[in-house]
Amino acid sequence: RANRKFHPENSVVKIDKEKIGGGQLGIIAGPCSVESEEQIIHVAKRIKAAGANFLRGGAFKPRTSPYSFQGLELEGLRMLQAAKAETGLPIVTELMSTKWIDEFVDSVDMIQIGARNMQNFDLLKEVGKTNTPVLLKRGLSATYKEWLMSAEYIMSEGNENVILCERGIRTFETETRNTLDIQAVPVIKKLSHLPIIIDPSHAGGMSYLVEAGAKAGIAAGADGLMIEVHDDPANAWSDGEQCLTPDEFAELMVKARKLAEIE
Ligand code: PEP
Ligand code: MN
Repeated sequence: RANRKFHPENSVVKIDKEKIGGGQLGIIAGPCSVESEEQIIHVAKRIKAAGANFLRGGAFKPRTSPYSFQGLELEGLRMLQAAKAETGLPIVTELMSTKWIDEFVDSVDMIQIGARNMQNFDLLKEVGKTNTPVLLKRGLSATYKEWLMSAEYIMSEGNENVILCERGIRTFETETRNTLDIQAVPVIKKLSHLPIIIDPSHAGGMSYLVEAGAKAGIAAGADGLMIEVHDDPANAWSDGEQCLTPDEFAELMVKARKLAEIE
């Protein structure tokens, strides 16, 4: 079902009042983690003013260490909804366990499946039984075929609203957090009709790398971007090094729009 052979036209996925695929860039922005209601509302207003279409923010966090901050959980979902009520921005947030699937279906506009869960097949099947759009991140060392098979798990249960997200892969390089695989865009577009977006924040792991990755993604023909934005990156509860400030994000949006126009 994800295969281009049986579906020659590009898919467009509707998410609340927005869509991703088929032309204009879909911009998802927001902090790595939801930290407080004031924080998420503040960031939501700033990114909306800069031209973002969706608000992101993790409430359930897949942290490497069990001793790191794990997310505000259901309280975080409630804060995201409050930010949506203030700004109208549809919300995207990560689901890690089938345990919370009903709460997610009721309160989020797009369910993110994180890189670490790309092959959590039970989770994929369960989100496949819902109608909520799914943002499927590429696994840390997943091949294109494995990634598309994960999309297939979701779609084969009936949910065809899948968007892929390249977020960098593990390579031998240690200077950057991951290596952004820009070739993912043309390869996925050849093999599949699904929209694909680029997350330069998790790919590079450092804020100075975000602009180059975002521009490369647009130039390669990606359908959108996911960018981490924090009002005070130095004090972020997670991924501060890779977050842009709202001002930096606004500048990036100006450049991104120019580049998208000449595309
Ligand atoms: C995130 O989006 O905050 C995240 C944890 O991403 P990934 O699954 O790509 O590491
Ligand atoms: Mn993050």
